[in-house]
Amino acid sequence: MASTRSAPRKTCDGSARAVFERDSHADIDEQVSGERYLRDALALLPLATVMLDERGRMTMVNPQADRLFGYECDELLGKPVELLVHALRFDSHAPRCTDPLATQQSRGLLSLDDQCARRKDGTEFRAEIDLGAFRFDGENVTLAFVIDKTERYELHRQRQDLAHLTRVSTMGQLASSLAHELNQPLTAILSNVQAAQRFMTADPIDLAELHDILNDIVQDDYRASEVIRRIRAVVKKGDLEVIPLDLASVMRDVVALVHSDAIVRGTRVTLDIDTALPPVRGDRVQLQQVMLNLLLNAFDAMNEVPPVDRMVRVTLKSADNGMVLIAVLDRGHGLTADKLDKIFKPFFTSKPQGLGLGLSISRSIIDMHRGRLWAENNNDRGATFYVALPAGDAAQEDKSR
Ligand code: ADP
Repeated sequence: MASTRSAPRKTCDGSARAVFERDSHADIDEQVSGERYLRDALALLPLATVMLDERGRMTMVNPQADRLFGYECDELLGKPVELLVHALRFDSHAPRCTDPLATQQSRGLLSLDDQCARRKDGTEFRAEIDLGAFRFDGENVTLAFVIDKTERYELHRQRQDLAHLTRVSTMGQLASSLAHELNQPLTAILSNVQAAQRFMTADPIDLAELHDILNDIVQDDYRASEVIRRIRAVVKKGDLEVIPLDLASVMRDVVALVHSDAIVRGTRVTLDIDTALPPVRGDRVQLQQVMLNLLLNAFDAMNEVPPVDRMVRVTLKSADNGMVLIAVLDRGHGLTADKLDKIFKPFFTSKPQGLGLGLSISRSIIDMHRGRLWAENNNDRGATFYVALPAGDAAQEDKSR
């Protein structure tokens, strides 16, 4: 191979030969046929693909990439890849091809998710970029495969919106019991303030008594703001936030949220939590949504049961297989064999006012957390819904988004 060779520049009309004028004729033929072969192969790929030199300049662009980014044929040649993916710092991301013996061989793929790609007209879209380094004609080159994720993001956004809507609608069901729960501390605050006003007119003023009254007011205010905090945490709309979570505190918040509703429905809720429960990685709001849904379904399933038998037992424990297991057991009507699977399908409901979305959304949330949600009938009566989530760092954020 002649050492004076320039960087390969490919053109749409096949005039690659022109840029290798300093090479010997034999070399030129060999290079051109190799490059033409590569260019033809790239043109056959269903993915937008660009080849980059060591400095991240585009040396080959397939028609799919031109189309995706809105450029004319050859327009991108010699330009830096940052023109297409501006957040991509090629020098820090470029996979290295350090093995000097490696020839025309892929050196592994580096996948960069959630990149912001820019079309010629300035519009932007979400993309996944896979970078693969290899040796070609004695040079280190990189192939960048660009996957347009617009549709996936749109789908993800719609799923999030739907999940949010069902959360808001679930909170709507709880509205009257939550209003009642808020009313209690507010009423207590009012009567304490009235008592304090009476004490103020006494002479001498009983400061110790006044001090106790003010303390009660603070406590009641705290109770009211806790109710509001829990409501806001569930109806919150935001991006997925995957962090290490203490499931016990997530579950306690949900049980507190349904506390008044459980009283109105005459249902006892017991909570049994393993003391050494490992954390799980997950989104707090979404996992709360799942637990809320399971609890309210359990309440609904016991509507026809005599009040003395209405009880829900929630247990959280670590399982042997590195999972954390949540079980929500009720004493309701249970599930017929045909329902065991159907209930997780969207829009399946047996309730007159039901949406039939709770369990299907819950299952997709748990799938996204690399977990499992399923139901079983109890031996005696009622059903138990199980959620198994990977403990610790084993759970990962959904890569398919
Ligand atoms: P919805 O509550 O709006 O009906 P879900 O998807 O949450 O939607 O539930 C679907 C169906 O699954 C319910 O209508 C009910 O028939 C059944 N189901 C859910 N939880 C239970 C349970 N704990 N016991 C018996 N059946 C249940």
